[in-house]
Amino acid sequence: MMPTYRQAGRTAKALSAAVLASALLLAACDSGADGGEQSPDGKITLNLMTQSSPLAPADPNDKLINKRLEETTGIHINWKNYTRDIFVEKRNLAMASGDFPDAIFDAGYSDYELLKLAKDGAIIPLNDLIERHMPNFRKVLEEAPEYRAMITAPDGNIYAFPWIEELGTGKERIQAVDAVPWINVDWLKKLGLEMPTTTEELKQVLIAFKTRDPNGNGQADEIPLSFINKPGAEDVVFLFGAFGLGENPDHAVVTNEGKVVFTPAEEGYKNAVKYIHELYKEGLIDVEAYTQDWSTYIAKGKDHKYGLYFAWDKSNVTGDNGSYEVMPPLAGPDGEINVTQTNAYGFHRGKMVITSANKNLEATAKWVDQMYDPLQSVQNNWGTYGDETQQNIFEFDAENNMLKHLPLNGTAPIELREKTSIGGPLAILDSYYGKYTTKPDDAKERLRIVKEVMAPHMKADHAMPSIFNSIEELERLTTIETDLFAYVLRMRTEWYQNGKIDEQWDDYLKELERLGLPEWLKIKQTGYDRAMQK
Ligand code: CA
Repeated sequence: MMPTYRQAGRTAKALSAAVLASALLLAACDSGADGGEQSPDGKITLNLMTQSSPLAPADPNDKLINKRLEETTGIHINWKNYTRDIFVEKRNLAMASGDFPDAIFDAGYSDYELLKLAKDGAIIPLNDLIERHMPNFRKVLEEAPEYRAMITAPDGNIYAFPWIEELGTGKERIQAVDAVPWINVDWLKKLGLEMPTTTEELKQVLIAFKTRDPNGNGQADEIPLSFINKPGAEDVVFLFGAFGLGENPDHAVVTNEGKVVFTPAEEGYKNAVKYIHELYKEGLIDVEAYTQDWSTYIAKGKDHKYGLYFAWDKSNVTGDNGSYEVMPPLAGPDGEINVTQTNAYGFHRGKMVITSANKNLEATAKWVDQMYDPLQSVQNNWGTYGDETQQNIFEFDAENNMLKHLPLNGTAPIELREKTSIGGPLAILDSYYGKYTTKPDDAKERLRIVKEVMAPHMKADHAMPSIFNSIEELERLTTIETDLFAYVLRMRTEWYQNGKIDEQWDDYLKELERLGLPEWLKIKQTGYDRAMQK
């Protein structure tokens, strides 16, 4: 479970680093006996494996959400809970040994793992259970039918219950832009400069940051431009949109004609790389951009050394203050503005599986179905209300049947969420806001930025949907991407610094072919076409 708005949330990473020490001290909690014994009052007992944050109670039944669930469902859960750092290893060991739990909650399986387990008969198809015993989940799939296509494997089976967290939809979804450009407006003001609107103006602004001592300490210690040179929310490729289709961490965009394009083989990409080289030549790029990790990046950010940098949320880097603001997308040399969407969604396919050892399928399905009740989903994702022993994320408005976010009063939202939520399979649709719950404060500003600043300039109507490839396709994609993506990153980095992209471009295109680009494109296009048919 990662109660954040992107699959690889920086906040979550920073937090896990902070709690690593305590994580190491906490042994895995084996909170119940093995076997499916009945509790004294004759309740059905299910054996579930799960994971949780080291901040959370070692026994998930100590969480208020689970106490209430046991009361309302009449099902006792015998948890085998592992802290996140060891969960994957323990999960894999159990599934390899044949000592299966009844189900794995918050399983975190990749598509490849799901299909492998299904092929081995270790997990079971869920289609019938969904149709017969899961009205809440069916209601979600009726309201948002695209998810039915997304959770269905190429063989027609559904092998796992998904996690769905919508915040905005389509172009305006919170994940549509990961790397937001944050510019130092204190420095703009100090130097009497306007917010840049073109790539050329940005270059002039960065030169001024470098040469005119905007922090006023008499030293040329400003870093005009910083980023972390790899695919992700700290990458510089947001600027590539000004030169054409742009770039995203998957190197894949889909045109409005439905054609899948590999971005690093495009002419616009070439021009964008040349532009970054121009900035490099002027000495505007952080010398650590190619080597730095997150902690180095935020250390300089906290000192307000940057003129322009990229991040999901500025509060993680330069703090929650007015010194940095979003730089709106720039016009390129031909006057075009474009914002490239990521292919990320608040969606994960493999959040819960039922194993072939499960002897209580109907009871299990009915229990899981409760997770897709809107008010339950909201709590499972973010935390609960009415806990008299600790701070609450929500208050419950009984009159309106609605969970309202409470002020955090300085508590880190992710910390409180990790302590009190249970994660796992759930669905929060965009339509729930204002009906069943309110939007979390830390999402509101990002949603505003995506909607007002970015989405109006997105030329592509759609991102790549989350495609469920076959096991054979996944094997080929993984093999090809390992070399192809590494080569693209290496060449891009060399060209930023040596500027030899024109001379080397034709050889580069040939090497992309040799590394399997045509097959990669074919698999991606086939998957996309299949998804569109569904
Ligand atoms: Ca200075």
